[in-house]
Amino acid sequence: MGSKPLQLKFVQSATRAHQLPELGPEVAFVGRSNVGKSSLINALAHQRQLARVSNTPGRTQLINVFSHVAGGAVVDLPGYGYAKVPGHIRGDWSSMIEGYLLEREELVMVFVLVDGEIGPTPLDVQMLEWLRYNDVPHTVVATKSDKVKSAKRQRRKRDLAEGCMLEQGDIVWASASKNVGIERLRDLVISHLTT
Ligand code: GDP
Repeated sequence: MGSKPLQLKFVQSATRAHQLPELGPEVAFVGRSNVGKSSLINALAHQRQLARVSNTPGRTQLINVFSHVAGGAVVDLPGYGYAKVPGHIRGDWSSMIEGYLLEREELVMVFVLVDGEIGPTPLDVQMLEWLRYNDVPHTVVATKSDKVKSAKRQRRKRDLAEGCMLEQGDIVWASASKNVGIERLRDLVISHLTT
């Protein structure tokens, strides 16, 4: 099962949770703009163009829903923390993400993406604290693991876990570029969608 891609089909974009279709258990991906979220979703699905990989962080500002062929759905939430977005849009944006995370009954797990090389950023920590405070189930995924040199890996793993206030074993390390950790993450996603 693990070697098969997640079979995802784009269904719809929305700005509010109540506009979304009900497709069964749902997992969501969230993270700072440019963290590698689109690349990771594409790697999980083995499709290059499913989620857009863009060089313009913050351009994808909608909630994007993908149905999982074997049941459930994957939701790509807009990236946070893009400095060039004006304040009023940032406000809309966090109310959109927060509304979804608090209200969505189908939501069973939020994967919080943190840059493996530089994370967690203060905004990532804020997001994690907010999820903890609101009892939203979540798992941290450290992205771009290929960018961390092997000599620094142990220390980086420890620092990232400490920064997230988690144990090292709680964090899933992945590289979309080098296909590291993708199978494990895929299995984890499938286990949440099929329970
Ligand atoms: P998003 O804004 O979170 O959707 O991030 P993207 O998927 O668009 O990726 C942002 C940038 O990081 C792009 O230049 C990607 O090529 C790069 N990137 C994404 N994943 C990886 C990875 O696993 N390793 C490396 N080295 N670069 C990555």
